Amino acid sequence: MNDPGITFFAKPSEMNIRQHISLKPFNTFQIDIRANRVIECKTPDELKEAIRLATESEEKLMVLGGGSNVLFTDDFDGTILLNRISGIEITSENEEYVFVKASSGEVWHELVMWCVRNNYAGIENMSLIPGRVGAGPIQNIGAYGVELKDVLHQVEVIMIDSGETRILSNAACQFGYRDSIFKRDMKGKCIIISVTLKLSKKPVIHASYGSIKHELGKKGITQPTIRDISEAVIHIRQSKLPDPHTLGNAGSFFKNPEVEKAFFEQLKIKHPSIPGFEHHPGTIKVPAGWLIEQCGFKGKQFGNTGAHKDQALVLVNYGNATGKEILRLAQLIIKTVEESFGITLKTEVNII
Ligand SMILES: Cc1cc2nc3c(=O)[nH]c(=O)nc-3n(C[C@H](O)[C@H](O)[C@H](O)COP(=O)(O)OP(=O)(O)OC[C@H]3O[C@@H](n4cnc5c(N)ncnc54)[C@H](O)[C@@H]3O)c2cc1C
Repeated sequence: MNDPGITFFAKPSEMNIRQHISLKPFNTFQIDIRANRVIECKTPDELKEAIRLATESEEKLMVLGGGSNVLFTDDFDGTILLNRISGIEITSENEEYVFVKASSGEVWHELVMWCVRNNYAGIENMSLIPGRVGAGPIQNIGAYGVELKDVLHQVEVIMIDSGETRILSNAACQFGYRDSIFKRDMKGKCIIISVTLKLSKKPVIHASYGSIKHELGKKGITQPTIRDISEAVIHIRQSKLPDPHTLGNAGSFFKNPEVEKAFFEQLKIKHPSIPGFEHHPGTIKVPAGWLIEQCGFKGKQFGNTGAHKDQALVLVNYGNATGKEILRLAQLIIKTVEESFGITLKTEVNII
């Protein structure tokens, strides 16, 4: 037996443990695959006990929040830890800032709403991103000009092999565009149990994003509050993104690729309408949705799957798609975009 050296408090008999159940209700692609065991964890102690149970039986282990950034391609031969650790608290504050610690099982959008209600600014542009707080740092979630890294103070994790609790500062998380240390060196080695945000009591409004400006303009709002921004973002998202409850999906399937400026200039000669914006000096970010659309995938159905009619970047499950079927479509898209533009798309969704 592999002893992770953890002090245990939770009793397995009191925990919600289910064997051989479908993960369909727990992933927004609604893929109907099975896991050997699903353990719901409502406290850090239950999480530690669940890690011990999985380690003891030498099973693969995976933590799931809202399942809105994963594509299961097969049955999961191991233990899924459903993270439902809840709680939001203020850990410190001064005249300008408030430090808000949220447990990783909190629903992200509910945390945003709590902050908007209390007038703590910083995450309102990320209203309505599905999923739970703990997955936020994994891919450095972002929307409408703001990323989690802009407001994240620190992350608290439990190390899977030792059970030790560690604190990672913003810098230690090594955030990048849809990227962090949790997708690289620390992948599969730790579970995030809380996230502390540094939010502003004197809001800095981020309203320069085209669609937000347009939405505020329609309402005649010239001096937006964070509530106005949040409401605008919610309205935009509801009108343009498919609701995973009715049409299985995991949001953007691919990241927007970054290419060298010189390469982009060459592409522009052949494809004058190609959009792109400078991300870092010398590199241009190209919208993946545009590339996919140019290749004719937008709105096209392939069996039970396809690229959404309004958002080519969003692959959808029309009913009974398997993960493998969606993956095959993703591979076809990657190949076609590569042949047409010489750009290799990378998936944003975690393929399991
Ligand atoms: C309609 C739609 C719109 C979306 N829009 C956006 C958007 O605008 N911006 C954006 O950034 N994303 C977006 N997403 C993607 C997704 O919502 C985010 O990535 C979200 O943070 C995922 O949260 P989750 O709890 O569902 O993660 P899950 O899918 O449950 O997990 C994702 C990954 O993180 C790992 N993980 C989860 N919790 C933890 C934890 N506590 N500790 C360690 N690892 C963990 C999992 O093992 C998995 O590898 C969208 C998705 C959908 C369906």
